[in-house]
Amino acid sequence: MGATPVTAPSIVALRTRRLSVPLHTPFVTALRTATSTETVLVEVVDSDGVSGWGEAPQVRQVTGDSLAGSQACLDGPLRDALVGRPADPRESAAPVQRAVVGNAAAKMAADVALHDLAARRAGLTLAQHLASYAGIPQLPPTAVPTDVTLAAGEPHELASAATARVADGFGTLKLKVGTDAATDVARVLAVRAAVGPDVALRLDANQGWDCFQAVAVIGALEAAGADVELVEQPVPARDLLGLAWVTERVDTPVMADESVFDLHDLVEVVRHDAADLVNVKLAKCGGLTPALEMLHVAHLHGFGTMVGSMMESHLGVGAAAALVAAVGTTSLPDLDAAWWSRASPYVGGAAYDGDRLVLGDGPGTGIEGVEEHA
Ligand SMILES: [Mg+2]
Repeated sequence: MGATPVTAPSIVALRTRRLSVPLHTPFVTALRTATSTETVLVEVVDSDGVSGWGEAPQVRQVTGDSLAGSQACLDGPLRDALVGRPADPRESAAPVQRAVVGNAAAKMAADVALHDLAARRAGLTLAQHLASYAGIPQLPPTAVPTDVTLAAGEPHELASAATARVADGFGTLKLKVGTDAATDVARVLAVRAAVGPDVALRLDANQGWDCFQAVAVIGALEAAGADVELVEQPVPARDLLGLAWVTERVDTPVMADESVFDLHDLVEVVRHDAADLVNVKLAKCGGLTPALEMLHVAHLHGFGTMVGSMMESHLGVGAAAALVAAVGTTSLPDLDAAWWSRASPYVGGAAYDGDRLVLGDGPGTGIEGVEEHA
C-alpha cells in the first residue's frame, strides 16, 4: 500500500451475519436453558481493506437485546453513523453511542469492531491497543484467569459439578443462587464442603432476593464460615436503596451487576454508596469505549471492579479479556461464557487453557475468520 496515510482511512462498509455456536454442556440458569450461543457478527471495513470484528450477543433477559433488533440496528442507524467516518475509535466511537437509545449489544459489536480495526492497523494486539488508548505504559499480560459458573442445580449436583471444574483447573467458582432463599445456604455449603478451603466461591443472586432475605442468607453463610468472596446483585436492579441497605449490613463484599448498565447507573450507585464492587460488561454499556470509562470512574471512587460477559462467543469474551489485560480489575473476571462452546467458531483468537483465557496473538483479537462448518 506504500506510505502511511497522513489522515486515518475512512470506514467504507459494515456487514453483519448471524452465528450459532453449539455448547458442550447446557447452560442452565433460573431463567432459561441454553444449548447454543446465538450472536450477530459485525465486520467493519476501512478504505484500505482492513477489517475489524465485533459481536452482538442475544441478551433478552437482561438488556432486552435480541438478534433481530441488534442486526437491524447495525444494518441501519449504526451503519449510517459509521460509513464515511474515520477508522479511529477516538473519532467514531462517540457517534456510535449517540446514534440510537438502548441497543447496547449492537453498540458493543460496532465499538469492539472499531477498536479491533485500530489495533490491526497499528499492528498491536487488542490488549496492547487498549492499554495505549487508555494511556497505560505497561505491556499487558497475554492471558487472564477466569472463574467458571456452575449451572443451577440441587446441592449434590452442584457439589459434583464443582469438583469437576476444580479438576479442570479452575480456582474460582461462581454459584447461581437467589432462586430459593430457603435452600441457598445448603447449596453453597455443599459446594464449600466438596472443594475445600482453597477454592474461591462467589455468588450471583441475579436479583433473586429481597433485601431482608439477602441479609439473612449472607449472614447465615458468614456465620457458617462459608468464606464467600463476593455476592453479585442480591436484590432487584432498581432497588438501589435496598442494595445499599444490604451492603451496609453484611461483611461479604456486594457487587452491583444488573443495577449498573452504563456510566449513569454507576454514578447512581456511587451516589448511594450502594455496593462495594461493580461488574462491567460490554453488552450492558455498549462496548470497550464506555467500559474503559466506567472502570476508570469506579476506580476513582474506590469501588472494586470486575469484568463479566453475557453468553458470548470467543470474540466478545476475548475482547473483554483484552480489556482486563490492558487496564486491570480488582477481582478475577467472569469470562467463562465461551468455555461452554464445543469449539471456537473462529480461526485464531482467544482460547481457554485450564482457568486461563489466552488472548489471540493479534493483530487485534487475532481472529482471522469464521470456521465455515461452525
Ligand atoms: Mg451477574
